[in-house]
Amino acid sequence: MSISDKIEKLLLKVEIGKPLGRKEIIDLLRMPGDFAQDLFVTADRIRQREIGDEIFLRGIIEFSNYCECNCLYCGLRKSNNKLHRYRMTDDEIINTAQEIKKLRLTTVVLQSGEDSFYSTDRICRLIEQIKKETGLIITLSIGEKSTTDFQSFLQSGANRYLLKQETVSPELYKYLRPGCQLDKRIQCLRSLKLLGFETGTGNMVGLPGQTLEILADDLLFMKQLDADMLGIGPFIAHPDTPLAGIENDDVELTLRVLALARILTLNTNIPATTALTALHPQGRILALQAGANVVMPDFTPENYKIHYEIYPGRTDAGSAAEIISKLEKDFRSIGRTVLYSPGNRPGK
Ligand code: SAH
Ligand code: SF4
Repeated sequence: MSISDKIEKLLLKVEIGKPLGRKEIIDLLRMPGDFAQDLFVTADRIRQREIGDEIFLRGIIEFSNYCECNCLYCGLRKSNNKLHRYRMTDDEIINTAQEIKKLRLTTVVLQSGEDSFYSTDRICRLIEQIKKETGLIITLSIGEKSTTDFQSFLQSGANRYLLKQETVSPELYKYLRPGCQLDKRIQCLRSLKLLGFETGTGNMVGLPGQTLEILADDLLFMKQLDADMLGIGPFIAHPDTPLAGIENDDVELTLRVLALARILTLNTNIPATTALTALHPQGRILALQAGANVVMPDFTPENYKIHYEIYPGRTDAGSAAEIISKLEKDFRSIGRTVLYSPGNRPGK
C-alpha cells in the first residue's frame, strides 16, 4: 500500500469513529509533512462537530514566580538566581480577578511555581474571596499537592485543576524533574479526577530525549485518564536553565500531537498554548485550526508578567482589553467567535 493510501485509510478510520492504536498514532506522527494538513483538517472537523465554532477564553493570573522545584526545562526553577522573583498580594490577585470579570470572561486560572508561602489555608481563603466577589469559575495550576489539600480547594469553591504530566516516560520525567517521580504526578491526577475536579493534563513536545513512541504514550495516557483539558505546547529552551541552547522549532510536530489529542479525546478543552505563539507568529491560529478550542489571555499585571519567564518570548503585548479585542479580530478572520460563558467540557 502506498503511503498516501495508508494515511487516507487511517484518517477514514478516524472519521467513522474507530479508535486509533499506538502504532497508528506513531505512523501519523511520523508521516511525511505533505500529509500533515489532512490530519489537521480531520481534527478541525472533529472539533467543530464535538464543540462547535466558539472559542472559550480563560483569564490567567500568574500570581507567584517563586518555585521550590528544579525542573531542568523551566526558567522559574529554584536554582535560576538571575530571575527577579515576585509574589502578588491577595488584594492584587482579587483586583485582577475583578478585571477578568469586567471583560466578561467567566473563568480564572491561578498559576504559580510550587510556592509554599501560599499555604493551603491561604489558597482556600483566596478561592472563597474570588468566588464571593466575582463568581468566576476557578482553575488552579499550582503543582502537586496532597489529596487532602485538593479536597480543601474543592470545598472552598475551586472547580478545575491543571497539572500536566509533562512526559509519561518515567526515565525522562525523572531526569527533567530532579527529585520527582512520575507515579506521584499520576497519583495526583487520579485523585483530582476522583474528587470531581475538571482535570487538565498535557505535555511538552520537543523535549531532549523524547521519541515519537513517548509522544504516542503521552496521548494514550491523556485518553486513558479521561482528562477534561489538555495543554499541549512546544518545549522552548530558557537560556538560564541546564537545557539552554537546545533547539526546538518543531511547530508542526506540536500541532500533530494536538490534532491527535483532539481525534483521540473528541470533546476535551484544548488550548492554543502561548508557547506555540512564542515559536511561530501564527501559532495560535494554526492550533485553532488543528483541533484547539481554548485561548488563555494573560491578565497578570504588566510589572509582574515580564518576570514570569517560564521560557523566553512568551508575553502578548498590551493591556488585557487590547489583547482580547485583537484576539476577537483574529478569531473572526477564521470564522470563529468567542464564547462568554463557562465552557465546561460537554457533558460535565
Ligand atoms: N508549577 C506548576 C505550574 C506552572 S508551570 C507546574 O509545574 O505544574 C506551567 C507549565 O509550563 C508546565 O506544566 C510546563 O509544561 C510549562 N513549561 C515549563 N517550562 C517550559 C518550557 N521551557 N517550554 C515550554 N513549556 C514550559
Ligand atoms: Fe516550578 Fe512548575 Fe517550573 Fe517546575 S515547571 S520549575 S514546578 S514552575
